[in-house]
Amino acid sequence: MNIHEYQAKELLKSYGVPVPVGGVAYSDQQAAQVAEEIGGNKWVVKAQIHAGGRGKAGGVKVVDSIAEVQKTADAMIGTHLVTHQTGPEGSIVQRVWIEQASDIKKEFYLGFVIDRGSQRITIIASSEGGMEIEEVAKATPEKIVKEVIDPAIGLLDFQCRKVATAIGLKGKLMPQAVKLMKSIYRCMRDKDALQAEINPLAIVGNGDDKLMVLDAKFSFDDNALYRQKAVTEMRDLAEEDPKEVEASGHGLNYIALDGNIGCIVNGAGLAMASLDAITLHGGRPANFLDVGGGASPEKVTNACRIVLEDPNVKCILVNIFAGINRCDWIAKGLIQACNSLQIKVPLIVRLAGTNVEEGRKILAESGLSFITAENLDDAAAKAVKTVRG
Ligand code: GDP
Ligand code: MN
Repeated sequence: MNIHEYQAKELLKSYGVPVPVGGVAYSDQQAAQVAEEIGGNKWVVKAQIHAGGRGKAGGVKVVDSIAEVQKTADAMIGTHLVTHQTGPEGSIVQRVWIEQASDIKKEFYLGFVIDRGSQRITIIASSEGGMEIEEVAKATPEKIVKEVIDPAIGLLDFQCRKVATAIGLKGKLMPQAVKLMKSIYRCMRDKDALQAEINPLAIVGNGDDKLMVLDAKFSFDDNALYRQKAVTEMRDLAEEDPKEVEASGHGLNYIALDGNIGCIVNGAGLAMASLDAITLHGGRPANFLDVGGGASPEKVTNACRIVLEDPNVKCILVNIFAGINRCDWIAKGLIQACNSLQIKVPLIVRLAGTNVEEGRKILAESGLSFITAENLDDAAAKAVKTVRG
């Protein structure tokens, strides 16, 4: 689960990490009010969407009057902001964050991610902040430093100093850097975060230099949300695919893709194999949908309904290898779905495993026209053939 930049900043602030003074606004008048309240003579108006790359796309504007704050907020709110991370349809800006603008002297990159190799939280830092870290990694990999954190010991001061030195922080900024890194790490551990990305971390101020977090992105472990009430409350469903939200409410794992073959499968592994098989036969999957272990007829009906909400879907491939599942339940669910949803697209069904004979019999005797398949390869081939006509 992801949160907005301003939520990340408020969270970091509660851990003593320096962030600009700011406030969130849902309308242009509110934006002007926030600017008035926080004071100063220069403000940054920042579109709050979960995707990055807002700066280059016009989602981050520095202005120097309250009237400009209001005008900029008005222009941003309600628009579709398209960045290199949103996809071509963009994300609707529903709120903006107004903060006091900082005098930036230098920008750094500071990320905390889970390194799959070492299975540990790892700091990734660079003197080349502000821009896309992927580009830095490609063009000048020597400008990226890494530090692996031992979970049993935690992040030690010397490790922070090592990272800070490597990116060019020294003098008065050194103790600030150590405190900041340790606070971010503590916040991550407390909140079951998977990632904390600060880009840019900046040296700001005139004369009295200070480190400040100017942009922050956090993501959290969905499997830990049950014990993270405060994090869960920051969830913004408007930022998520409505079909994915609905699916998770029914205990289904749905991920939207851009092809035309709808997929209903049990188990993530079989789902991936099904997508591969479709692609191998020259087709394109419209989604990834895992109905999970105990797929009741209701769950199967919900799965069909969610898949069919995508207007691109030209056929549905149902691929079930029942272990805990039961093929007869799946078959009953499909019949129920056909009757209640008046499904007009062809259904290709491959059943195997528990109660398979019974399941096949139910389908055969239903009077409905399912296309049955013997195995995964056969099912994928038939699905691709169906959409080709
Ligand atoms: P992103 O493009 O979505 O990652 O948005 P950021 O919050 O990182 O903003 C993009 C860029 O805007 C930053 O790299 C800064 O150069 C600039 N920026 C952000 N906040 C300030 C500020 O307070 N003052 C000034 N002058 N520039 C800022
Ligand atoms: Mn940024």
